Parts: sequence; structure tokens; C-alpha cells
Amino acid sequence: MEPPLVEGLNPLYIVLAVLFAAGMLLAAVQILNIRRRQARSRVVTEIECPHCSYHATREFRRGDYIGMKTRCPSCGGDAYVIRIYQESTGKEKP
Ligand SMILES: [Zn+2]
Repeated sequence: MEPPLVEGLNPLYIVLAVLFAAGMLLAAVQILNIRRRQARSRVVTEIECPHCSYHATREFRRGDYIGMKTRCPSCGGDAYVIRIYQESTGKEKP
């Protein structure tokens, strides 16, 4: 004899519950992926000095702009921000 099904439980509800759980799981995975991608990328400011060979990158700070004058830590002259870009350290899916 077959074992009896759980009484009063429509199999349709089970299917719906499984689908709902799968959907929630998929949404959670997607949110995690977005968070990870955000953590992997950062905005970088590139500084170059025309007087010496000083060249450096640092974390972008609010107020940075291309052409901004800053002091060269190597020769003490005027160095300039030459590039501001987003850097990603990991592989990204298209
Ligand atoms: Zn310099």
C-alpha cells in the first residue's frame, strides 16, 4: 500500500511554496552580487607632476577634478590631477 499524503495539503500549495522560495533565493543572490560588485570597484584619482617624474594614484576625494592643482610630495612643485576613473579589481559579467 502507498503511504498516505499529508492530509489537507493541496499539492498545488507545495508547488507554489517551492516557486516562492526559489524566487526569494534568486532575489537574495542578485542583491548579494550587486553588493559584491560595488565593493570591488572604487574611484581613483591619478596625479602627475610635470616637473619631476612623480606619478601616483589615490582614492578619489570629494572635490577632486581633472586639472586640479596639488602639491607634489616629491619635488614640492605643482602637480595636477590628470585622470579620475572607476577601477574594478575583479572580473565583471557583462
Ligand atoms: Zn614633482
